[in-house]
Amino acid sequence: MSRIAYVNGRYLPLAVASVNVEDRGYQFSDGVYEVCEVKGGRLIDERRHMERLQRSLSELRIAMPMSVAALGVVLHEVVRRNRVRWGIVYLQISRGVAHRDHAFPPPGTAPSMVVTARNLDLPRVETLAADGVAVISVPDNRWQRVDIKSVSLLPNVLAKQAAREQGAREAWFVDREGRVTEGASSNAWIVTRDGKVVTRQADQSILNGITRAVVLDVLAAHGLSLEERPFTLDEAHVAREAFITSASQSVLPVVRIDGRPIGNGAPGLIATALRRDFHRHAETS
Ligand code: PLP
Repeated sequence: MSRIAYVNGRYLPLAVASVNVEDRGYQFSDGVYEVCEVKGGRLIDERRHMERLQRSLSELRIAMPMSVAALGVVLHEVVRRNRVRWGIVYLQISRGVAHRDHAFPPPGTAPSMVVTARNLDLPRVETLAADGVAVISVPDNRWQRVDIKSVSLLPNVLAKQAAREQGAREAWFVDREGRVTEGASSNAWIVTRDGKVVTRQADQSILNGITRAVVLDVLAAHGLSLEERPFTLDEAHVAREAFITSASQSVLPVVRIDGRPIGNGAPGLIATALRRDFHRHAETS
Protein backbone atom coordinates (compact mmCIF):
# COMPACT_ATOMS: atom_id res chain seq x y z
CA MET A 1 0.00 0.00 0.00
CA SER A 2 1.44 3.36 -0.99
CA ARG A 3 1.53 6.00 1.72
CA ILE A 4 -0.61 9.11 1.28
CA ALA A 5 0.34 12.68 2.12
CA TYR A 6 -1.84 15.77 2.32
CA VAL A 7 -0.25 18.66 0.41
CA ASN A 8 -2.03 22.00 0.13
CA GLY A 9 -5.54 20.65 -0.28
CA ARG A 10 -4.83 17.32 -1.98
CA TYR A 11 -4.28 13.76 -0.79
CA LEU A 12 -1.48 12.30 -2.90
CA PRO A 13 0.69 9.17 -3.01
CA LEU A 14 3.99 10.01 -1.31
CA ALA A 15 5.93 9.38 -4.53
CA VAL A 16 4.24 12.35 -6.26
CA ALA A 17 3.55 14.52 -3.19
CA SER A 18 5.84 17.54 -3.48
CA VAL A 19 6.20 21.20 -2.57
CA ASN A 20 7.35 24.09 -4.72
CA VAL A 21 11.14 24.70 -4.83
CA GLU A 22 10.42 28.27 -3.74
CA ASP A 23 8.57 27.18 -0.64
CA ARG A 24 9.95 29.17 2.28
CA GLY A 25 10.01 26.06 4.43
CA TYR A 26 12.49 24.56 1.99
CA GLN A 27 14.54 27.72 1.42
CA PHE A 28 14.63 29.34 4.88
CA SER A 29 13.24 26.73 7.34
CA ASP A 30 10.51 29.35 7.61
CA GLY A 31 7.86 27.12 9.10
CA VAL A 32 6.61 25.19 12.09
CA TYR A 33 5.54 21.63 12.75
CA GLU A 34 3.78 19.30 15.14
CA VAL A 35 4.05 15.58 15.78
CA CYS A 36 1.14 13.76 17.44
CA GLU A 37 1.16 10.21 18.63
CA VAL A 38 -1.43 7.91 17.04
CA LYS A 39 -2.64 5.02 19.18
CA GLY A 40 -5.30 2.58 18.07
CA GLY A 41 -5.84 4.85 15.06
CA ARG A 42 -6.75 7.83 17.31
CA LEU A 43 -4.82 11.01 18.01
CA ILE A 44 -3.22 11.57 21.42
CA ASP A 45 -3.48 15.07 22.89
CA GLU A 46 -4.62 16.68 19.64
CA ARG A 47 -6.10 19.66 21.49
CA ARG A 48 -2.83 20.59 23.19
CA HIS A 49 -0.83 20.02 20.01
CA MET A 50 -3.18 22.38 18.16
CA GLU A 51 -2.82 24.99 20.88
CA ARG A 52 0.96 24.82 20.67
CA LEU A 53 0.80 24.96 16.87
CA GLN A 54 -1.23 28.17 17.01
CA ARG A 55 1.25 29.65 19.46
CA SER A 56 4.25 28.75 17.26
CA LEU A 57 2.52 30.24 14.20
CA SER A 58 1.56 33.41 15.97
CA GLU A 59 5.09 33.93 17.39
CA LEU A 60 6.39 33.75 13.79
CA ARG A 61 3.43 35.71 12.33
CA ILE A 62 2.43 32.89 9.99
CA ALA A 63 -1.31 32.57 9.32
CA MET A 64 -3.28 29.43 10.20
CA PRO A 65 -4.06 27.86 6.81
CA MET A 66 -7.48 26.68 8.00
CA SER A 67 -9.56 26.42 11.15
CA VAL A 68 -8.48 24.11 13.96
CA ALA A 69 -11.57 21.98 13.29
CA ALA A 70 -10.69 21.63 9.58
CA LEU A 71 -7.09 20.82 10.50
CA GLY A 72 -8.36 18.06 12.78
CA VAL A 73 -10.34 16.56 9.89
CA VAL A 74 -7.20 16.52 7.70
CA LEU A 75 -5.06 14.95 10.44
CA HIS A 76 -7.58 12.16 11.04
CA GLU A 77 -8.05 11.61 7.31
CA VAL A 78 -4.29 11.19 6.73
CA VAL A 79 -4.12 8.74 9.65
CA ARG A 80 -7.08 6.82 8.21
CA ARG A 81 -5.77 6.73 4.64
CA ASN A 82 -2.39 5.43 5.85
CA ARG A 83 -4.01 2.85 8.17
CA VAL A 84 -1.90 3.99 11.08
CA ARG A 85 -2.61 1.98 14.23
CA TRP A 86 0.37 3.01 16.34
CA GLY A 87 2.66 5.68 15.04
CA ILE A 88 2.75 9.39 14.36
CA VAL A 89 1.05 12.07 12.32
CA TYR A 90 3.33 14.91 11.19
CA LEU A 91 2.08 18.38 10.26
CA GLN A 92 4.17 21.16 8.76
CA ILE A 93 3.09 24.67 7.91
CA SER A 94 5.42 27.10 6.15
CA ARG A 95 5.08 30.78 5.27
CA GLY A 96 4.27 29.72 1.70
CA VAL A 97 5.74 30.09 -1.77
CA ALA A 98 7.36 33.32 -2.96
CA HIS A 99 10.41 34.57 -4.88
CA ARG A 100 13.41 34.13 -2.65
CA ASP A 101 13.75 37.13 -0.36
CA HIS A 102 14.54 36.89 3.34
CA ALA A 103 11.86 39.37 4.38
CA PHE A 104 8.22 38.23 4.55
CA PRO A 105 6.46 37.58 1.21
CA PRO A 106 3.65 39.90 0.02
CA PRO A 107 0.59 40.02 2.29
CA GLY A 108 -1.93 37.38 1.32
CA THR A 109 0.70 34.76 0.39
CA ALA A 110 -0.94 31.49 1.39
CA PRO A 111 0.88 29.34 3.95
CA SER A 112 1.78 25.83 2.74
CA MET A 113 0.64 22.79 4.63
CA VAL A 114 1.80 19.19 4.50
CA VAL A 115 0.59 16.25 6.60
CA THR A 116 2.08 12.75 6.64
CA ALA A 117 1.49 9.76 8.92
CA ARG A 118 3.17 6.45 9.47
CA ASN A 119 3.22 3.41 11.67
CA LEU A 120 6.12 2.99 14.08
CA ASP A 121 7.69 -0.23 15.29
CA LEU A 122 5.93 -0.72 18.62
CA PRO A 123 7.85 -3.85 19.74
CA ARG A 124 11.12 -2.01 19.13
CA VAL A 125 10.09 0.96 21.29
CA GLU A 126 8.81 -1.39 24.01
CA THR A 127 12.22 -3.08 24.01
CA LEU A 128 13.91 0.32 24.31
CA ALA A 129 11.62 1.14 27.23
CA ALA A 130 12.36 -2.16 28.95
CA ASP A 131 16.13 -1.85 28.48
CA GLY A 132 16.45 1.91 28.87
CA VAL A 133 18.40 4.15 26.51
CA ALA A 134 21.76 5.91 26.47
CA VAL A 135 22.17 9.67 26.21
CA ILE A 136 25.19 11.83 25.41
CA SER A 137 25.62 15.52 26.27
CA VAL A 138 26.40 18.26 23.75
CA PRO A 139 26.71 22.05 24.05
CA ASP A 140 23.40 23.84 23.47
CA ASN A 141 24.25 25.97 20.43
CA ARG A 142 20.67 26.72 19.37
CA TRP A 143 18.95 30.09 19.00
CA GLN A 144 17.15 31.78 21.89
CA ARG A 145 13.59 30.85 20.88
CA VAL A 146 13.52 27.08 20.96
CA ASP A 147 10.09 27.33 22.62
CA ILE A 148 8.79 27.81 19.07
CA LYS A 149 8.41 24.44 17.33
CA SER A 150 10.13 25.61 14.15
CA VAL A 151 11.46 23.34 11.42
CA SER A 152 14.92 24.96 11.81
CA LEU A 153 16.49 21.92 13.44
CA LEU A 154 20.11 21.89 12.29
CA PRO A 155 21.67 21.82 15.80
CA ASN A 156 19.20 19.07 16.75
CA VAL A 157 20.13 17.09 13.60
CA LEU A 158 23.85 17.32 14.40
CA ALA A 159 23.30 16.46 18.06
CA LYS A 160 21.19 13.43 17.20
CA GLN A 161 23.77 12.24 14.70
CA ALA A 162 26.53 12.58 17.32
CA ALA A 163 24.39 10.46 19.66
CA ARG A 164 23.84 7.85 16.95
CA GLU A 165 27.58 7.67 16.23
CA GLN A 166 28.25 7.08 19.92
CA GLY A 167 25.65 4.35 20.24
CA ALA A 168 23.16 6.56 22.11
CA ARG A 169 19.48 7.24 21.46
CA GLU A 170 19.39 10.90 22.43
CA ALA A 171 21.62 13.94 22.98
CA TRP A 172 21.00 16.31 25.86
CA PHE A 173 21.79 19.96 25.24
CA VAL A 174 23.76 21.63 28.02
CA ASP A 175 23.79 25.42 28.40
CA ARG A 176 26.83 27.58 29.23
CA GLU A 177 26.23 27.18 32.96
CA GLY A 178 26.48 23.39 32.67
CA ARG A 179 22.71 22.94 32.99
CA VAL A 180 20.72 20.55 30.85
CA THR A 181 18.07 22.24 28.71
CA GLU A 182 16.42 19.34 26.85
CA GLY A 183 17.03 16.55 24.36
CA ALA A 184 17.46 16.97 20.61
CA SER A 185 13.88 15.74 20.20
CA SER A 186 12.62 15.23 23.76
CA ASN A 187 12.39 16.83 27.19
CA ALA A 188 14.90 15.80 29.86
CA TRP A 189 14.11 14.66 33.41
CA ILE A 190 15.94 13.28 36.42
CA VAL A 191 14.89 11.84 39.78
CA THR A 192 17.20 12.95 42.57
CA ARG A 193 18.58 10.64 45.28
CA ASP A 194 15.88 11.96 47.64
CA GLY A 195 13.09 11.15 45.19
CA LYS A 196 12.33 14.56 43.66
CA VAL A 197 11.44 14.63 39.99
CA VAL A 198 13.24 17.51 38.27
CA THR A 199 12.75 19.02 34.83
CA ARG A 200 13.61 22.44 33.45
CA GLN A 201 10.90 25.08 33.65
CA ALA A 202 9.12 25.72 30.36
CA ASP A 203 10.60 29.07 29.39
CA GLN A 204 12.20 30.08 26.09
CA SER A 205 15.11 27.66 26.61
CA ILE A 206 13.08 24.51 25.93
CA LEU A 207 10.19 23.34 23.82
CA ASN A 208 7.21 23.00 26.12
CA GLY A 209 6.54 19.34 25.38
CA ILE A 210 2.96 18.11 25.29
CA THR A 211 4.15 14.80 26.75
CA ARG A 212 5.89 16.84 29.45
CA ALA A 213 2.57 18.53 30.31
CA VAL A 214 0.77 15.19 30.60
CA VAL A 215 3.61 13.74 32.71
CA LEU A 216 3.20 16.69 35.10
CA ASP A 217 -0.45 15.60 35.49
CA VAL A 218 0.58 11.98 36.12
CA LEU A 219 3.11 13.11 38.75
CA ALA A 220 0.46 15.20 40.51
CA ALA A 221 -1.98 12.27 40.45
CA HIS A 222 0.66 10.06 42.09
CA GLY A 223 1.50 12.75 44.64
CA LEU A 224 5.15 12.72 43.56
CA SER A 225 7.25 15.76 44.35
CA LEU A 226 8.30 17.89 41.42
CA GLU A 227 10.81 20.68 40.93
CA GLU A 228 10.65 22.70 37.71
CA ARG A 229 14.16 24.11 37.59
CA PRO A 230 17.38 23.68 35.65
CA PHE A 231 19.54 20.72 36.71
CA THR A 232 23.23 20.35 35.96
CA LEU A 233 24.87 17.55 34.06
CA ASP A 234 26.73 16.71 37.29
CA GLU A 235 23.39 16.29 39.09
CA ALA A 236 22.20 14.05 36.25
CA HIS A 237 25.27 11.83 36.51
CA VAL A 238 24.51 11.07 40.19
CA ALA A 239 20.71 10.95 39.83
CA ARG A 240 18.70 7.94 40.95
CA GLU A 241 16.85 7.90 37.62
CA ALA A 242 16.66 9.80 34.37
CA PHE A 243 14.18 9.73 31.51
CA ILE A 244 13.07 11.52 28.36
CA THR A 245 9.60 12.38 27.07
CA SER A 246 8.24 13.01 23.60
CA ALA A 247 5.04 12.35 21.65
CA SER A 248 6.47 9.50 19.60
CA GLN A 249 7.86 7.50 22.54
CA SER A 250 5.98 8.88 25.59
CA VAL A 251 8.36 8.15 28.51
CA LEU A 252 11.69 6.38 27.92
CA PRO A 253 14.00 5.56 30.83
CA VAL A 254 17.62 6.72 30.46
CA VAL A 255 20.18 4.29 31.86
CA ARG A 256 23.47 5.86 30.73
CA ILE A 257 24.63 9.43 30.31
CA ASP A 258 27.98 9.97 28.60
CA GLY A 259 28.76 6.30 29.16
CA ARG A 260 28.16 6.45 32.94
CA PRO A 261 25.37 4.33 34.43
CA ILE A 262 22.45 6.14 36.08
CA GLY A 263 21.25 4.66 39.40
CA ASN A 264 21.75 0.93 39.20
CA GLY A 265 21.98 1.08 35.41
CA ALA A 266 18.44 -0.22 34.85
CA PRO A 267 15.17 1.66 34.11
CA GLY A 268 13.93 3.42 37.25
CA LEU A 269 10.67 2.78 39.09
CA ILE A 270 9.27 6.27 38.57
CA ALA A 271 10.04 6.39 34.85
CA THR A 272 8.51 2.95 34.41
CA ALA A 273 5.37 3.95 36.35
CA LEU A 274 5.00 7.17 34.36
CA ARG A 275 5.25 5.25 31.11
CA ARG A 276 2.70 2.71 32.30
CA ASP A 277 0.17 5.37 33.37
CA PHE A 278 0.77 7.97 30.66
CA HIS A 279 -2.14 7.14 28.37
CA ARG A 280 -4.65 7.13 31.21
CA HIS A 281 -3.98 10.86 31.56
CA ALA A 282 -3.60 11.79 27.88
CA GLU A 283 -6.59 12.86 25.76
CA THR A 284 -7.69 10.72 22.81
CA SER A 285 -9.59 12.00 19.77
N1 PLP B 1 12.02 19.13 22.86
C1 PLP B 1 12.33 19.05 21.56
C2 PLP B 1 13.52 19.80 21.05
C3 PLP B 1 11.54 18.28 20.69
O1 PLP B 1 11.85 18.23 19.37
C4 PLP B 1 10.45 17.55 21.21
C5 PLP B 1 9.60 16.72 20.34
O2 PLP B 1 9.83 16.58 19.18
C6 PLP B 1 10.17 17.65 22.57
C7 PLP B 1 10.97 18.45 23.37
C8 PLP B 1 9.02 16.91 23.17
O3 PLP B 1 7.80 17.51 22.81
P1 PLP B 1 6.46 16.66 22.71
O4 PLP B 1 6.29 15.98 24.03
O5 PLP B 1 5.40 17.66 22.45
O6 PLP B 1 6.64 15.68 21.59
